[in-house]
Amino acid sequence: MIKVAQICIDKYDGDIPDNIDDLVSLPGIGPKMGYLALQCAWKKNEGIGIDTHVHRICQRLNWTHKPKNPEDTRKQLESWLPKDRWREVNKMLVGFGQQICPARNPKCSECLNDEICPKNFSNEKKSPAKRVKITKKKEIKTEIKAEPQDGALEPLTGNEQVTSGGAPEVRTPEIKKEYDADEEVPAKISKVSGPSKMTTRRQKKEP
Ligand code: SF4
Repeated sequence: MIKVAQICIDKYDGDIPDNIDDLVSLPGIGPKMGYLALQCAWKKNEGIGIDTHVHRICQRLNWTHKPKNPEDTRKQLESWLPKDRWREVNKMLVGFGQQICPARNPKCSECLNDEICPKNFSNEKKSPAKRVKITKKKEIKTEIKAEPQDGALEPLTGNEQVTSGGAPEVRTPEIKKEYDADEEVPAKISKVSGPSKMTTRRQKKEP
């Protein structure tokens, strides 16, 4: 605002520009505000101020055909709407859009246009897509611990050293897998099955 004010002081003798090209060259001023300013400040009717309400309702009423943006709506609307209606159409549709025909949940049952309105919502963005909750599957590691029986030792881990027959043995995962799959495991390794995992335990070495 300060920047715009300074430009107006410096270039336009402290007033605002009286044409659309100079108005839209000001920082933050677009065609909508430019045409409205021309109408209000200079009584010039050179274009329709298209805001989001006008843009939306013109489409719903089929006054425009698949406008790409508000500028497209303005050009389509100006192509057929009598010029003496340009000034009032903005004010009329903005209030109507705020009270009766908002972007979401238009009050069609209360609307006087209900029976004649084509209700063309085809060019409107869909409501935000439902966010599908993607719950990442947690890898739940259930460790089934065999309760130490009388005379039994704690369950083995993957690389625990096992003393079997006196000679130390490093149990690698492959070796453990062999034990799990093979019924004929060494006498000192017995199988304990759980709901999702099998583990082994070793019995206490007999004295
Ligand atoms: S009938 Fe519904 S969609 Fe049509 S102008 Fe009225 S509120 Fe908007």
